[in-house]
Amino acid sequence: MPTPPASPSSEPSPERLPADAVDVDALHADVLAWYDEHARELPWRGVAATPWSVMVSEFMLQQTPVVRVLPVHAVWMEAWPTPAHLAAVPTGEAVRAWGRLGYPRRALRLHAAATAIVERHGGEVPASYDELLALPGIGDYTAAAIASFAYGRRHVVLDTNVRRVLARAVGGDEFPARSVMRSERDVAAALLPDEPADAATWNVGLMELGALVCSAANPACGRCPLEDRCAWVAAGRPAYDGPPRRAQAWAGTDRQCRGRLLGAVRDADGPVHTSTLDAAWADADQRERCLASLVADGLLARVGPESWALP
Ligand code: SF4
Repeated sequence: MPTPPASPSSEPSPERLPADAVDVDALHADVLAWYDEHARELPWRGVAATPWSVMVSEFMLQQTPVVRVLPVHAVWMEAWPTPAHLAAVPTGEAVRAWGRLGYPRRALRLHAAATAIVERHGGEVPASYDELLALPGIGDYTAAAIASFAYGRRHVVLDTNVRRVLARAVGGDEFPARSVMRSERDVAAALLPDEPADAATWNVGLMELGALVCSAANPACGRCPLEDRCAWVAAGRPAYDGPPRRAQAWAGTDRQCRGRLLGAVRDADGPVHTSTLDAAWADADQRERCLASLVADGLLARVGPESWALP
């Protein structure tokens, strides 16, 4: 797999981890070699991927698996190959093309970020973490991921998969804390390779390892390049004893209700009558509450006394 282009180091190099705790160079070598051999070919990776393609993928991959993102990402890149193309259409078109990826506010945030890129950066996705972070809808993770994967900048990128692999291989715990701790970020920074291009590949390599091998429920340690140096395996794979990990509820939730209501409008050719929404969700109180929240979020608009449409 090609690696992202090198660029000046942008992440401070903190103190190294104690040499007797982790063989950092061997860890790097194992992950980079594994990634080189096993990485999936994805449209937002490789030399042909534009920074905009990387940025769209990062928005879509938050909370959503690769297999569901692939077709929607293809549709988006075909329709809007640059930020300017997306910024030029109404937000409703972005919401419609978001389809059933879930968390549709991401479509609005992406549209807002594209608009800001056109206004502030001449239509080019900025390369610096600070400029990315200043865009609407972009937080620490997404800014670091775009700077790393699109421009080869040296940043700590901590997504769910990376956090799980590091928790196991280095921390000896089956799962990381519920939210990112300062100590966890310090360890990740200490482990980041010095060379920006290696750091970018390290980030995406850990991510891929977490997705394909070190999964949450069934880590395939026999296929893992880190098995011989994994702290959790060395400790005998102790059972997780932290706070309960909540499974995300879906059936009957406001999220499901909002998805049904939005889907009923998205699947129609034009505005839909209130009766269509009544048919989409039976609980009237919940339906009204979710309808109001969709309008407040800018995902739906009331276009007549009893009719609704995408914005
Ligand atoms: S050896 Fe097993 S637990 Fe450790 S990092 Fe690899 S897959 Fe995960």
